[in-house]
This record gives sequence, structure tokens and C-alpha cells, in this order.
Amino acid sequence: MEIISDPQDMRGRARQWRGLGLKVVLAPTMGFFHRGHVSLMEYGKTIGDRLVVSLFVNPAQFGPQEDLGRYPRDLDRDVRLAREVGVDCLYTPEAKAMYPPGYQTFVAVESLSQGLCGASRPGHFRGVATVVLKLLNQVSPQVAVFGEKDYQQLMVVKRMAADLDVPIKIVGRPIVREPDGLAMSSRNTYLTPEERAAALCLYRALVAARELVASGARSRENILAAVRQIINAAPGARIDYAALVDPATLQDVEAIRGEARLLLAVWVNKTRLIDNTLLSESRLCCV
Ligand code: AMP
Repeated sequence: MEIISDPQDMRGRARQWRGLGLKVVLAPTMGFFHRGHVSLMEYGKTIGDRLVVSLFVNPAQFGPQEDLGRYPRDLDRDVRLAREVGVDCLYTPEAKAMYPPGYQTFVAVESLSQGLCGASRPGHFRGVATVVLKLLNQVSPQVAVFGEKDYQQLMVVKRMAADLDVPIKIVGRPIVREPDGLAMSSRNTYLTPEERAAALCLYRALVAARELVASGARSRENILAAVRQIINAAPGARIDYAALVDPATLQDVEAIRGEARLLLAVWVNKTRLIDNTLLSESRLCCV
């Protein structure tokens, strides 16, 4: 596996691959790999000739009071894991190369970035859209792979690529969970054993919502009331948002007609966790 840090070197390698007619896939990450990341890598390997995994803890998507400084990092472990999975290139640009002095250009995906995580994390999606566009320009992949765990991010990135005519396919992949249902996240490492137990309330709330829908519930009010009750009963848990939205526009829906997405952001003491699921009138699938 090749490790590239310099954006010019990355661009050069990508140009070379393109010249050979190879299909390049990119999976952007912030590192501290877990099985969610590995699932993106494994999928990426199946659909292309060269898999690039970017590892960049992007300062532009963190607010001033957020966890940029203490975001978990373990490059040696990440290198080992990526090598084991068969990643072709780990791209690890430095912040000063991504945002050199004088940097001043940012991408705003307006409406989709506004509510939900965008409301509690102002500027977050501007940072995400900007770094993803930069990575797409540097790596020029034919496909980029993202997790549905960060559902709003996935929608923002799809919109950005479509609106700015980036010739790429953006693929969303299913959420990977711990055996008990907690969505895998690098931030789970912040949780004490007690908080880890409380954090299960997100998954429990999603499962309860699915069961309600399976038994005929459709209204937003009923579904969100059940969700709130479960989360509020967990020690240390505080809801940032619980939203029932149209899967494409992320606008609130009053009732499930066809499909809706239930999106959750919950503070467990000082750790903010997100999770989501599809709620479908007709389809019974697992969370
Ligand atoms: P991150 O390193 O947290 O920025 O995540 C990098 C990519 O992995 C993003 O596309 C995430 O949506 C995806 N991802 C993170 N956690 C999971 C998970 N539990 N299941 C599937 N994809 C995930």
C-alpha cells in the first residue's frame, strides 16, 4: 500500500491511473478506523481497480468549541488496517497543504445544510462540502463512497457533486453496528462504560420506531413521541434533535407516506452521537 501525503503527488498518481484506464474509487475518512470504515473500503475494492482512502481530520468542519483537538487518532493502527483490507493508497494530506495561508474559498450547499446537524454545528457542512470537493479534485475518482451513518452529509455531498457538475458517482452504504446495535463511530471511544450503555438508546429508539411503523403507525407525532420517551429515559442522554424527514429533501414530514428517514442526534453527557434509519410503509428491513 502506498501512503501519499502531498496533494501534488496524489494528483500525479491519479493522473497516471486515469491514463491507464483504471477505475478509481475514493473513500474519504477522518481515520481511527472501525468496521464502518472497513465496510466502505471492502465495498470500494469490489467496484473499482484502485481504492484510495483519504485520512484527514478536517479543521474546517469543526466548530471552535468542538473536539478537533481531541479527535481520536492512531495512524499506525489505521495504516495496518488499511493494508490488511487491501487499500491501494492511503492519502493523508496535512492541514497546511489543504488550507495554505491565503486560503479563502468555501462551498455552501444551502438548504440541505441548514437544519439538523447544520443547526447545531454551524459551518459544519460548509467544511464538509469544501473538503470533499478538494479531495475529489485531487484524487479524481469515478466513484466516492460514503456511509449512511452520516445521512445528511451524504445528501449534502450528492447535491454538491450534482450542482457543481463533478463527474462522479456518489454511493451511500449501510450503517455498520456493534453487535448490540450501537452504530460504529470513532467518537464511541469517548464513552465511559455507563455512557456506552446509555448510548444504546439511539438504536432502541430506531427499532421502536420501525416496530411502530410495522404495526401501522404513520404520524410524525406518534413516532417521535415514542422515540423521545426512550431516549429521555436513558441516563445522561439529551436529545439534540429527533426528526422525521423526507429522505431526499430532509424537510420534515407530518406522516410517513412511502418512505421517510428518522434522524437522531443525542448528547450522552459530553459526547454527541448520531444515528438514523429508513422508515418505510411497505418494506420491512432491518435497522
Ligand atoms: P468519519 O471518519 O467518521 O468521517 O467517517 C468516514 C466515512 O465512514 C463517512 O462516509 C461515514 O459516513 C462512514 N461511516 C462512519 N461510521 C460508519 C458506520 N457505522 N457505518 C457505515 N459507515 C460509516
